[in-house]
Amino acid sequence: MNVAPHRGGGRFAPSPSGDLHLGNLRTALLAWLFARSTGRAFGIRIEDLDRVQPGAAERQLADLAALGLDWDGPVVRQSGRTPGHHAAIDRLTDAGLTYECFCTRREVQQAVTAPHGPMGAYPGTCRELTDAERAQRRALGRPAALRLRSRTTEFEIADEIHGVYRGVVDDFVLRRGDGVPAYNLAVVVDDADQGFDQVVRGDDLLPSTPRQAYLATLLGLEVPRYAHVPLVLNTSGQRLAKRDGAVTLGDRAALGETPQQVFSLLAGSLGYIASGPDELLRLFHPGQLPTRAWTFDPIDVVQPSRNP
Ligand code: GLU
Repeated sequence: MNVAPHRGGGRFAPSPSGDLHLGNLRTALLAWLFARSTGRAFGIRIEDLDRVQPGAAERQLADLAALGLDWDGPVVRQSGRTPGHHAAIDRLTDAGLTYECFCTRREVQQAVTAPHGPMGAYPGTCRELTDAERAQRRALGRPAALRLRSRTTEFEIADEIHGVYRGVVDDFVLRRGDGVPAYNLAVVVDDADQGFDQVVRGDDLLPSTPRQAYLATLLGLEVPRYAHVPLVLNTSGQRLAKRDGAVTLGDRAALGETPQQVFSLLAGSLGYIASGPDELLRLFHPGQLPTRAWTFDPIDVVQPSRNP
């Protein structure tokens, strides 16, 4: 396929909390395919502001390479980008678009399950605190998170797979109580700064996306093109997880399966017969992707690597 180069880029942004399982690997493959099939660069950002398991990032990169995926430029760690995150938070604060929130995790959980208001939305408990009330809470020593003072309650995005999607925008957290930038802020700032105008990721993140797109517009950043791809499920219909058995490349290798065989399995789950990325790229057509989740049974597909 001859694809005209595109100035933007796509990316895969794993959290280094453990080995990638087949669901993560399939999402990475799709992100690579979407980027390459549209002439875009493809980058990897390790989202290490939270849940880091030592050595996991290195193993994740090794597994992506073993599948035959390549990427452009250096792998970026999100933790190295916090000055940009804080600068964006400061711009929002200067524009009057933030406020301190002293709610505990428990209080927020209780509030978001309250019968009024949209599901999962922060009801704005701390939004209208007076200066005196804020001072009182600070004096109690509670660390404050910083929330967006949203001017909307909903925002619409366009998704390659889901079409137009309208979802809740609440006063979500921009900076956690421990001072660390929150995911929804960091992802928006980083994608824009790194020139990633295409976001391909699991559709479990679709509900957060209107928040992120709205935040991009507040910061004057281009809203990326989104494709939220179906997750891989286990045989009970739940999202695939490590406890489901042989689900990582390492687990599959222990059963005698090569990375190429795992690649073919993933290609098959997308409706293609291909043994490597370049072959798959020639066949790939985003419009033909299965829109339903793929169910994986770890014991179903053990393929012998040798003849007996
Ligand atoms: N780091 C997130 C995850 O592993 C993905 C974020 C994204 O792709 O925007 O679930």
